[in-house]
Amino acid sequence: METYDINQIKAELETKGIRPSFQRLKVMEYLHQHKNTHPTAEEIYAALAPEIPTLSRATIYNTLHSFSEHGLVNCMSLDGIETRYDMWIEHHGHFRCEKCGMIRNFPVKLGDLQMDGLEHYEIKHRNIIFTGICPDCTNQTKLEKGDEQ
Ligand SMILES: [Zn+2]
Ligand SMILES: [Zn+2]
Repeated sequence: METYDINQIKAELETKGIRPSFQRLKVMEYLHQHKNTHPTAEEIYAALAPEIPTLSRATIYNTLHSFSEHGLVNCMSLDGIETRYDMWIEHHGHFRCEKCGMIRNFPVKLGDLQMDGLEHYEIKHRNIIFTGICPDCTNQTKLEKGDEQ
């Protein structure tokens, strides 16, 4: 779990002109604590609802939408179905395991990418997604096959 400072989060929201309400701070805190899992709105709701009885799904969605509009989180869809939220603002790629669904961040140097033909396009999101099988699942398959290596 990463260390973070609630006052820092508060200041961050205020700089962006977002009123740091209790619920917004809680959502931000959750995102900071779950930087590596790239949670969905539903997961955030399920985690925070028991703690905040007044919380509604609409609040979660609106909060995430406003965070994303202000560049505080990235939203992305790795499977084309679920939208996931990502605290990692720096450019990075994602690897998603087709077997267990784990998502791993990896650093990407955007300068190394060729993007010919997009000169006149306004780029809003850049997602680099690799899919495949993670080492854990590869080892699991080997074990199941009795492959001793
Ligand atoms: Zn896996
Ligand atoms: Zn990420």
